Amino acid sequence: MAVLEIRTVPDPVLKEVSQPVDQVDDDLRQLMDDMLQTMYAADGIGLAAIQVGVAKRVIVMDLAGPDEEAQPRYFVNPVLSDPSDTLKPYEEGCLSVPTVYDEVERPDRIRIRYLDYDGNPQDEIAEGMFAVCIQHEMDHLEGVLFIDYLSRLKRQRAVQKVKKVEKSKDRDAA
Ligand code: ZN
Repeated sequence: MAVLEIRTVPDPVLKEVSQPVDQVDDDLRQLMDDMLQTMYAADGIGLAAIQVGVAKRVIVMDLAGPDEEAQPRYFVNPVLSDPSDTLKPYEEGCLSVPTVYDEVERPDRIRIRYLDYDGNPQDEIAEGMFAVCIQHEMDHLEGVLFIDYLSRLKRQRAVQKVKKVEKSKDRDAA
């Protein structure tokens, strides 16, 4: 497994629409393994393939608490439907927008269909944290970031902040 580079705003790749996967094979599982390791290394709970520069409809996730055992999950070609009418605000963050957190409102319950790690079709209802996370990650597949829901001013500030953080990282690394 390998830790991949996570793309951050304003990298234009994050605006790309990801393409469906033809089949769940060993190459794709390798990508999912690498994505999971990359996500763990960055202390994230979800990661879409486009965040490591791969425009495929693939998401990994682990919502286990700090004292719980790892619960890795894999979603290939996920499709959302039947969102609840009830919206709930939740403070979101994103590995592609590091150090920025803000509130986004989303349906608190949604149906998700996808292929799992073995390519088997799955159909389930996501609620709570799972619902928030899967909708956030699904947005990545359409080239949408959570800061796109914020005001233009807040969005611009977020991008400036990330640019600054990334610059100081480069300086430290040099
Ligand atoms: Zn994200």
